[in-house]
Amino acid sequence: MLAQRTIRNKTSATGVGLHTGKKAVLTLHPADPDTGIIFRRIDGDKVIEMPAQANMVGNTTLATTLEKDGYEISTIEHLMSALAGLGVDNCIIDCDGPEIPIMEGSSTRFVFLVQAAGIVEQNAVKKFIYVTKSVQVQRDDAVAKIKPYAGFRVSFGIEFDHPVYQKYPQTASIDFSQTSYIRQVSRARTFGLYKELEMLKANNRALGASLNNAIGVGEEDILNEGGLRFADEFVKHKMLDAIGDLYLLGHNLIGEYYGFKSGHELNNQLLRKIESENAFKIIEIDEIKDAPINYLKPISEEVA
Ligand SMILES: [Zn+2]
Repeated sequence: MLAQRTIRNKTSATGVGLHTGKKAVLTLHPADPDTGIIFRRIDGDKVIEMPAQANMVGNTTLATTLEKDGYEISTIEHLMSALAGLGVDNCIIDCDGPEIPIMEGSSTRFVFLVQAAGIVEQNAVKKFIYVTKSVQVQRDDAVAKIKPYAGFRVSFGIEFDHPVYQKYPQTASIDFSQTSYIRQVSRARTFGLYKELEMLKANNRALGASLNNAIGVGEEDILNEGGLRFADEFVKHKMLDAIGDLYLLGHNLIGEYYGFKSGHELNNQLLRKIESENAFKIIEIDEIKDAPINYLKPISEEVA
């Protein structure tokens, strides 16, 4: 059978939040079958449990934030993306602050963390979100949509009216039966215009941002030494974000996502519409060979 997955051992990482600038310790725990992904704030009087579900999302300005009882855990999307990409179904994630550490700006360090902890198969059949009809949301010319597809495919287009962005590819499309999340997506870092950083900081955002955890886009070129990791790193990061946001549906997806200038807010609206319109069914795949998603096959030979 195609089994659910969790991590073998507890594992921890420490870092700084991109937006809050606050240090946080993150601890990932193995979890029982059918637990799903659950975040927990552990620094208050009591533990606040926040299941990684679309309806738990509050703020979506520049990051996806879970909220409950006046507590929040923000910037969950890169960690969620790594868990989705590695097909980890069940995991409990403790965080002792309001934001998941940004690490180096992509999901690579989270992939390492999970791989180092080990991934184990559990005695329960893996479930998938199987998209049964097309759903679309849009705001102005930004679009996020999902449609039935015999596999998992993500396509994205960005359109920034700025000469540096325009030097690089602004569209990408990946079919995950053909290529791997780890190789193609996980290393893409978050990014922003350097001249907007001051304004963001004045609004208490991006307080932890630096060239160590984001691509800084200058007036004429990339400000990071070494430039981009690959030519389409910007659009690939938007795909990384979308994969993390989609995982708030609760299971890996069988379907096609298309985003144009979409972000966390539109992605979350899409998830809520998928749920309210019942545009999916939950299926189990018994045979590994029937899984249309390459990254669900044994990953021991893959290295981040
Ligand atoms: Zn991101």
